[in-house]
Amino acid sequence: MPIDPTLPYDDNNLFAKILCGEIPSQKVYENDWAFAFEDINPQAETHTLVIPRGRYVSWDDFSAKASAEEIVGFVRAVGEVARAKGLVGPGYRLMANIGAHGGQEVPHLHVHLFGGQPLGPMICKQR
Ligand code: 5GP
Repeated sequence: MPIDPTLPYDDNNLFAKILCGEIPSQKVYENDWAFAFEDINPQAETHTLVIPRGRYVSWDDFSAKASAEEIVGFVRAVGEVARAKGLVGPGYRLMANIGAHGGQEVPHLHVHLFGGQPLGPMICKQR
């Protein structure tokens, strides 16, 4: 069920629980600003999620309210994960779903990293 990205941050959301270790995850990388882990239901050979440590509902929330330090730390983390996974040479795709039209299901900003195979068209054309 897509979330409403305009609602306040929910401290009990799934990724908040993964961040604090209450729900286990397969950790890939972490720095002071970000945490990366494998998606539980991978949609490609490589499907990794990168989340900020801060309490941000979506890309919209993060881009409006995060500090410059948080933004740099998070963006660098996404790049680090892609390099560590060997995705740069063959290429990969980043995706952040926002709200209903984006199909966002977890109300804590997450960037999907897809790779390890050709990824096909950018968006599904069916209506
Ligand atoms: P969204 O649709 O919000 O952009 O993406 C949410 C992602 O979280 C989905 O790709 C889904 O497979 C993943 N996910 C849902 N529950 C869990 C979980 O408990 N652990 C992990 N690692 N990923 C999850």
